[in-house]
Amino acid sequence: MKHTEQIMEKEKKTRKKPGLTTWIFISLLLGICVGSIFHYWVPAGYVRDTIFVNGIFYVLGNGFIRLMQMLVVPLVFCSLVCGSMAMGDSKSLGKVGIKAIVFYLATTALAITLALGVANLINPGIGLDISSFEMTEQTTAAESLSFADTLLNIIPKNPIEAMANGDMLQIIIFALFVGVLLAKRGEKADTVAQFISQFNDLMMDMTMAVMKVAPVGVFCLIAKTFSGIGVDAFGSLLKYMACVMIALLLQCLGVYQILLYLFTRLNPMRFVKKFLPVMGFAFSTATSNATIPMSIETLDQEMGVSRKISSFTIPLGATINMDGTAIMQGVAVVFVAQAFGITLTPSDYLTVIATATIASVGTAGIPSVGLVTLSMVFVSVGLPVEGIGIIMGIDRVLDMARTAVNITGDAVCTTIIASREKALNREVFMKK
Ligand code: ASP
Repeated sequence: MKHTEQIMEKEKKTRKKPGLTTWIFISLLLGICVGSIFHYWVPAGYVRDTIFVNGIFYVLGNGFIRLMQMLVVPLVFCSLVCGSMAMGDSKSLGKVGIKAIVFYLATTALAITLALGVANLINPGIGLDISSFEMTEQTTAAESLSFADTLLNIIPKNPIEAMANGDMLQIIIFALFVGVLLAKRGEKADTVAQFISQFNDLMMDMTMAVMKVAPVGVFCLIAKTFSGIGVDAFGSLLKYMACVMIALLLQCLGVYQILLYLFTRLNPMRFVKKFLPVMGFAFSTATSNATIPMSIETLDQEMGVSRKISSFTIPLGATINMDGTAIMQGVAVVFVAQAFGITLTPSDYLTVIATATIASVGTAGIPSVGLVTLSMVFVSVGLPVEGIGIIMGIDRVLDMARTAVNITGDAVCTTIIASREKALNREVFMKK
């Protein structure tokens, strides 16, 4: 379609400045340093807490997240409509959709299995005295999601309400309908198609404008987090954290990269290098949803992945594919079972793999939701939900790390699908 080609042309012209990636990393490291200095060396008081941590860092950091979030709903809706319109016939869309869902579910199941393996090797919960941990009210408030409701919730009762609430799966379904039917209508609906394409263009420009202040946002978010936590906060939970981190690293740098190489023959090192800024952004925000615009942009500009594919698979992945979250849940099950002296049977492990995969679909791409859906996994194998209270205190750091893995899984899947659908420009990927 003509207007889609125009969009592609325009996007190519508006390439991101190379300095941004470096700046994001400098601010990430600077944020860790400044945050740690604030935590250990600056005495608590008005200047540290009110002016810096809860003032400047909070306002600028969260202001940046809000700017990104502001783009998510219109961007996902417009780019999905454009993407499904560009794919033209619904058959190829269906093919991409089925491939993406199968890939997402398979990598999640793999991730939990890996997590259960690592946790059983390290045994993080053995010898833990749980009486030293306070149970919080929040723990018992965690709700269990029913599978039937999770399925039904995919269909929006009211698409406007879905957009207002930022309900990604419902928006995805509605946008796909609009895109496919617009393509079928052809010239008869050209005005609507043009409008959505141009609005999509506008959202892309806005994304790039917002990205210019990313280093400031990332610095403030990281500085605030690190000024709030210290090494002593980790204490006896270090082993649990180490398990989650090891499994996350194995998944991110092992499983994904092997899959990428096997399916596409692309250089995994180059992929990781080019995708690092997006991981850094996901790490600092702990929000998959807010990462959607940057992921699509990086995959397009740096890896040569067509937006036709990514505009569909990235929002879908940010909504249903949470491998990092599943890893945390797998390790948490073993940790809490050991801490409470509960022995898990092989069938319990299979139940955990199944329920954590479903929980991953039901986990929204925003901070801490993985902790809420964890209750569903605990209940499935009869673990006390109060166990979540043990790990709650240190979850923020793990949330950051697992979000980076969550979105890397989406990007790897998208690249593999794009390569198989001949929608990957290898020359762009090989550049630099
Ligand atoms: N923060 C995660 C994400 O946005 C979800 C979670 O595990 O809590 O992907």
